[in-house]
Amino acid sequence: MPNIVLVGAQWGDEGKGRVVDLIADKVDVVTRYQGGSNAGHTIVINGETIVLHHIPSGILRQGRLSVIGNGVVVDPGVLLEEIERLRSAGYVVHEENLKLSDRAHVVMPYHKEIDLAREDAMGGTRIGTTGRGIGPVYEDKIARRGIKISDLIDRGTLEKRLRSSLEERNLYLTRVLDRNPIDFEAVFAEYLEYGEKLRPFVTDTTKLLNDLISQRKSILFEGAQGVLLDVDFGTYPYVTSSNSGSGGACTGTGVGPTNIDHVFGVAKAYTTRVGEGPFPSELSGELGLKLREWGGEYGSTTGRPRRCGWFDSVGVKYSARINGISGLALTKLDVLSSFDEIKVCVGYLCDGEMISDFPSNSEVLKRCTPVYEEMDGWKEDLSVVREPSDLPIQAMAYIEKIEETTGVPVNIVSIGASRERVVYLKELFS
Ligand code: GDP
Repeated sequence: MPNIVLVGAQWGDEGKGRVVDLIADKVDVVTRYQGGSNAGHTIVINGETIVLHHIPSGILRQGRLSVIGNGVVVDPGVLLEEIERLRSAGYVVHEENLKLSDRAHVVMPYHKEIDLAREDAMGGTRIGTTGRGIGPVYEDKIARRGIKISDLIDRGTLEKRLRSSLEERNLYLTRVLDRNPIDFEAVFAEYLEYGEKLRPFVTDTTKLLNDLISQRKSILFEGAQGVLLDVDFGTYPYVTSSNSGSGGACTGTGVGPTNIDHVFGVAKAYTTRVGEGPFPSELSGELGLKLREWGGEYGSTTGRPRRCGWFDSVGVKYSARINGISGLALTKLDVLSSFDEIKVCVGYLCDGEMISDFPSNSEVLKRCTPVYEEMDGWKEDLSVVREPSDLPIQAMAYIEKIEETTGVPVNIVSIGASRERVVYLKELFS
């Protein structure tokens, strides 16, 4: 098997966890390269729902190595809880099958406090963060005052780094955000303990991954969020704080681009978005509510209702271009069963002009209205379909329309949350 990057081709929640779980069976290693506990992959196995925040979905496949790369920001308390939850669900998690990068940055209590205080203060101009401290921890990383996992497991360094960071961050919390300062001693003691508990998993994952590549092991790089939320290429400023696109796989793991063979995209058969930001094909009325209810479109981390709309080929075509996506998994096609008519957004009307490229400016995107092609719906229950020939002709026509308008082949169609509900249309990596 080659080395593959898997990205969400829309605004996140495309069902990446479920697709990683399918592909993980065919690779040796699954690694996460960005994001933090704000991500939440939901996987259903034997009727049991498992939500993962930091740990790559490969942990659910026996014999696979799971690696949390340097680009991920780790909330140690949440990670430890995640490990415990997996163990109590009967999964094996130990230092042999889970590795944590010594270079990954650590989410500290003041990051969460800053996140929440800022969202409160911003009122009407909220970005819609999950309040998990992800933005502030990436800010500290770039501002060179962050705390890494390697600091967490070294008492002297942790003390020094925490003292200087906290001094500065407490000034910000008290003087700018009007919050109480955070106590050094309590945080120091709590995080030292986290460091001790995580120590067995910590290693130089850049060396580990490159050594494994030399041994011809195959790696799946698992992106969190979606490409339209990438800090460079997404709908800025309504984006996440990291590179969720395929480029992030290199910077977030220390594996060079020459060692990556394929980029695979995951797109939902319609579109959803959580939080604020432009969304041209959003359905505000009854149809939107129907998609939300039928698709169970509520955040797996926050429970927030997701905004829903028709499939946007303009956005997915753009995602494919900037990420080098060569194949798509189309998820949740089953949710569209029983719509009389289904629409695909194939262009935007913006300031009186028809455009087919995704604008770089979110203010322009906000003014765009969708141009749709209408397709016939289908009424059949797709959950039992396993062969392409069993898909209703209208569903097949819909898939072909997506291929034609995005320029990317659809290799896999997912028609249910559980492992077996999948139809393979084309060879995955030819
Ligand atoms: P991720 O972060 O991209 O992995 O996406 P989420 O886990 O937030 O959301 C995907 C949700 O859709 C999960 O609840 C999955 O169990 C569910 N899901 C994934 N694929 C399908 C599918 O084909 N059909 C249905 N009905 N649900 C699916």
